[in-house]
Amino acid sequence: MEKTDVELLFEQIDNTTENIQQYKNETYLDSLAITLEMIFDQQLPETTEPELKEKLQRDIGQLEVSAYGTTEIRKAVQLAMLKGMKGATQQQHLMTPETVALFVGYLADKVTAGQKNIRIFDPASGTANLLTAVLGQLENAGTVSASEVDPTLIKLAVLNANLQQQEIEFFHQDSLRPFLLDPVDLVVSDLPVGYYPDDIRANDFELKADEGLSYSHHLFIEQSMNYTAPGGYLIFVIPEFLFDSDQSDKLHAYLQENAHIVGVLQLPETAFKSEKNRKSILILQKQGPETEAVKQPLLVQVPSFKDTKAMDDILAQMNAWFAENMNQ
Ligand code: SAM
Repeated sequence: MEKTDVELLFEQIDNTTENIQQYKNETYLDSLAITLEMIFDQQLPETTEPELKEKLQRDIGQLEVSAYGTTEIRKAVQLAMLKGMKGATQQQHLMTPETVALFVGYLADKVTAGQKNIRIFDPASGTANLLTAVLGQLENAGTVSASEVDPTLIKLAVLNANLQQQEIEFFHQDSLRPFLLDPVDLVVSDLPVGYYPDDIRANDFELKADEGLSYSHHLFIEQSMNYTAPGGYLIFVIPEFLFDSDQSDKLHAYLQENAHIVGVLQLPETAFKSEKNRKSILILQKQGPETEAVKQPLLVQVPSFKDTKAMDDILAQMNAWFAENMNQ
């Protein structure tokens, strides 16, 4: 069978990355960052050792990235990142799966329909796979911002965005610290799940735990709301147990007061590695003087992405819901 463009590009990126990895004794992800930088700059880093230089010069000569479309580039880079993450990365640093990212993109397009120059922010951007997948589905994106604390991931994210020619402003920081950022119209984020270690910083949030460490996923929701304009939307990939935890009463009360719950979509188990990692999507609208709660929130159990018939039915139901509830 003939190879697809994505496979061809992935193989080239992968070969080069392996060459660098062997020679430099770096991790695959760090070597991948060197590869992507090299492809983007179309030249080798100045410090490259002569022996490696020769090999890489050949690689780079063959790698004509401009011949590929944005989606192909995103997918090929994604495959390489996934290879590098296998076994090496902590669970909560995992890249958002492709199917989930595309689903979030669909929802982002629906909630922002008719708007222009949509300002977008992802405060836990990781590799920027989710964010760039969403951008690929939005016609009206305006300024785009992202934040990530992990140095390797943000490096990969910047290169990923550059190669896709997506203009994104990146903040390399703890996203629970303040930003120099005007409120946005849309937040999309696959939230990190767990405890937030900085108890002093957590004190600034309504959703801090009454006792002990706070949940970072709760603080991330509040922080995202802080940087959303009234009437703006937030689409989060959340752990399925978000509303059943020991601290969920507080979260409920906070959301009741500050947001409208637009929808909750339970994602299929098959989209994740294990039942424990199962996620849902939460759609919120930040309350504002002109906002109103939807009559009936969108509650969906998403079928397996492989079941195309069931998926078509659900999409038709969702399209109907959006047409009825969001004046489209
Ligand atoms: N959507 C991303 C992607 O497609 O690659 C994956 C997001 S991952 C589930 C959550 C991310 O949050 C991780 O990359 C992790 O490093 C980041 N993170 C965790 N705590 C953070 C913090 N306090 N500030 C900024 N980023 C944080």
